[in-house]
Amino acid sequence: MSEMPPVKRVLLKLSGEVLMGEQGFGIDPAFVLELAKEVKAAQETGLEICLVIGGGNIFRGMAGAAQGMDRAQADYMGMLATVMNALAMQSALEQLGVHTRVQSAVEMDQVCEPVIRRRAERHLEKGRIVIFAAGVGAPYFTTDSGAALRAAEMRCDALLKGTSVDGVYDSDPKKNAGAKRYDTVSYDRVLADNLRVMDASAVALCRDNDIPIVVFSIREKGNLARVLAGEGVQTIVKGEA
Ligand code: UDP
Repeated sequence: MSEMPPVKRVLLKLSGEVLMGEQGFGIDPAFVLELAKEVKAAQETGLEICLVIGGGNIFRGMAGAAQGMDRAQADYMGMLATVMNALAMQSALEQLGVHTRVQSAVEMDQVCEPVIRRRAERHLEKGRIVIFAAGVGAPYFTTDSGAALRAAEMRCDALLKGTSVDGVYDSDPKKNAGAKRYDTVSYDRVLADNLRVMDASAVALCRDNDIPIVVFSIREKGNLARVLAGEGVQTIVKGEA
């Protein structure tokens, strides 16, 4: 089994899709609350947590562009979707008594704070969870790149990518029954073989800053805690594998 690196501060990236629960679209508040419970349990182990949430459950720029929209315009819509998801997660966490702040890379004074690194540091020191919204704040990027960027600037020990699959496979497990899951795999192999972990710019940013990427399924109850305790099923992307 792959060994979890020791972590004190993590960046947890959740793809937007997991917020829709069993629905085909949008936000399922009951499921978001379940996710929030997992995050709260992780924080209670003494971790400092930065959160990044995608927007794919609401809108993806590429999908809009494929239907004839201007790509940059569609990407801004995608960024706004991530802000909605961040607010939904903030609301769920606060329902559980967890203190949070949302910081958006697209300024929205009435709704949340702008991204200010030193202020985010202070929030973490005070035991708050910081939810970073709107990715890197620019079109042609994804929230994976946003997650890698925030992980680097907040000096996180690892980027945990909670998604619908339990790791990185050598081919698509939905199409190929014989697909093999890696326990560990190097950044360079991920990039060379174009393995679907995160987009290349996000993987490269993690590689250049030596941030391990831990890919695991957030859909199974208790899995985040198991992964953090080194008892889960996951793939770790790192320098030497
Ligand atoms: N997006 C963007 N720049 C960013 C982050 C996100 O343009 O820095 C847009 C992009 O259109 C993307 C959408 O927001 O498709 C939703 O984010 P993403 O696809 O990363 O969400 P996820 O797949 O994690 O749910």
